[in-house]
Amino acid sequence: MKKAIVPFIHRLTKKDELDWLEEFQKAMPNINICSTETLSKKERESVDVAIIANPEPADLMDLPNLKWVHSLWAGVERLLDELTDDKISIVRLIDPQLAETMAEAVLAWTLYLHRNMPEYIQQQRKKEWKRHDVAMASETTIGVLGLGQLGQKAVERLKDNNFKVLGWNRGKRISYLETLEGYDGLLEVASLSDILIVLLPSTSKTRGILDSNFFSKIKQGASIINFARADIIESKSMLDALSTRRLKHAVLDVFLDEPLLETCPFWNNPYITVLPHIAAPTNKHTASKIVARNIELYFKLNKIPQSVSRQIGY
Ligand code: NAP
Repeated sequence: MKKAIVPFIHRLTKKDELDWLEEFQKAMPNINICSTETLSKKERESVDVAIIANPEPADLMDLPNLKWVHSLWAGVERLLDELTDDKISIVRLIDPQLAETMAEAVLAWTLYLHRNMPEYIQQQRKKEWKRHDVAMASETTIGVLGLGQLGQKAVERLKDNNFKVLGWNRGKRISYLETLEGYDGLLEVASLSDILIVLLPSTSKTRGILDSNFFSKIKQGASIINFARADIIESKSMLDALSTRRLKHAVLDVFLDEPLLETCPFWNNPYITVLPHIAAPTNKHTASKIVARNIELYFKLNKIPQSVSRQIGY
């Protein structure tokens, strides 16, 4: 039987491309995953699904009957900007392993802040022997902004480690968690949290939402971890809040320009920890299996997995 064709369209390095192809081959041996360049006009017309990773939008236009694309990443704001043809459904990666990895990162950097590690690093540089009080996790409130695939797992991990947790979302109830919604809810979470964790998607409603008003309402001396997207935080407001010490520390994993420019003042700010977008990288092995399952189900039942809402932007 002739193998079904699924193009793999991306802007990855050659090494990453080959690593992915090896995993795809193992996960879906009965499907021909290939680049569009190798396809005849007739084959391109037969394609209705493609796997994508930061594709050049024009490369998708070569596939006139494309119905849906499976992204290898969890975030979709760039795809929604670039892939404007609403006849093409966008399916993002939902991988329990990614949520586990993110939950581990959330716990690691929460503990980093909770146990004053940024101060101890600075003190060692100055050979300063000074102890800080140890707060109890059970008396420390963590505010998690965004309670989706990643936020909910992070909440569970924080609760397992005795932290008090508050959540903010668009109103979906979660039985084991106190959640707030709306702008007033956001400010309330801000005012009560010792550490705020950003796990929101970047949408028209969330871009710039953590602005000067937000930072003026945070608990005095709170810290923030941004593992979502840079444009959710207005960086000037954050820098102002750091300089007045209302905001104690910011752990940033995501930036408007990546890699972060050498000239960016974040590098040398003692109150900022810069991470090179490492909170939760896609795991090629587990992600390939999920992509394979979704594509095989589509070929069997003609059912496109749950796709991103273009209207709400995530
Ligand atoms: P998700 O499942 O789509 O969840 C998004 C959450 O944000 C939901 O709880 C949603 O509320 C909430 N939300 C969206 N708009 C809101 C608004 N206007 N007000 C209040 N809450 C709002 O997303 P996810 O899979 O957890 O991923 C979150 C983000 O993590 C991604 O968008 C991506 O940018 C980022 N990410 C980063 C890395 C990294 O390595 N740094 C890796 C993967 C992903 P409802 O539940 O009420 O709908």
